[in-house]
Amino acid sequence: ALAKAREYDKPVTQAIEALPHDAKKLAEELDLAIDRGELVLFYQPKVHARRQEITSAEALIRWQHPTRGLILPGDFIPVAEQAQLIRRLTLWTIEQAIADSAKLHNAGHDLRLFVNISGQLLSDDLFVANACRMVAGSDAALGFEVTETSVIRDPESAIANLQRFADIGIRVAIDDYGAGLSSLAYLKQLPARELKIDKLFVTQLTSSNRDPLIVRSTIDLAHALDMEVVAEGVETHAALALLTVMGCDMIQGFLISRPIAFDAFVTFLREDRHR
Ligand code: C2E
Ligand code: CA
Ligand code: CA
Ligand code: CA
Repeated sequence: ALAKAREYDKPVTQAIEALPHDAKKLAEELDLAIDRGELVLFYQPKVHARRQEITSAEALIRWQHPTRGLILPGDFIPVAEQAQLIRRLTLWTIEQAIADSAKLHNAGHDLRLFVNISGQLLSDDLFVANACRMVAGSDAALGFEVTETSVIRDPESAIANLQRFADIGIRVAIDDYGAGLSSLAYLKQLPARELKIDKLFVTQLTSSNRDPLIVRSTIDLAHALDMEVVAEGVETHAALALLTVMGCDMIQGFLISRPIAFDAFVTFLREDRHR
């Protein structure tokens, strides 16, 4: 599937050529890194607040660079987007998440794995067709995290494509809610089942006066729209307690676990089960 996806990437070389020197070098390395298997998915669990159960996890990409060590996505995803490498990179993450999901299933853990999808891919028909084919042909339970800002770019095609994802069982989550451009008009139309409150509001939850109000009204809004709420960036027991009282459905953050490599994640799940 990836060899096939590669044929569609003809404009990539041109896009890379147009980048400033440093970004160009990084993009060329990244192009090779995908084939060389230098990209890895780390996983961070999402815990159901009331049931205290791990029901899903988010895949967060890292680049295991041969000389520079582990590079975080903030340092290469923007370049991948500019260089038009993001389609191939994301198809790789979906393929990897499907493979990891099967391994988890065999180890007795049935979790939904969420993948981050860059905004520009929501109006990329080749991406959408390939992603749907991969997911529809697998038994994996997946979810896609997309920001609201990315929908506002090209709402008509983004909403139609999110609906196609939802139709084949992909759970759509709105990422970074409250941090970017928000529009209640779009929120209402999105086939999203989850809303993730940006960690900007969560990390200061117990030290600011306004953030608790914002978080509580966001939780109520999401519930009114029949969506589940995930709080990201939960770092303290105090935040966890407050979020639980406010009716937040799911918790994600360093308090539970940092994003960790797949094998460590399997160990984490096994130990959690015996807790
Ligand atoms: P995001 O999707 O909002 O992911 C949450 C980020 O917060 C992650 O950073 C995660 O490690 C970090 N985080 C988790 N829990 C806590 C916490 O309790 N406190 C704090 N301070 N931070 C926490 P990371 O892994 O560096 O990823 C950064 C961003 O890169 C992601 O933000 C996402 O936008 C993007 N990204 C990651 N993986 C992918 C990918 O496979 N594809 C695409 N397109 N983007 C990705
Ligand atoms: Ca995310
Ligand atoms: Ca987020
Ligand atoms: Ca973010």
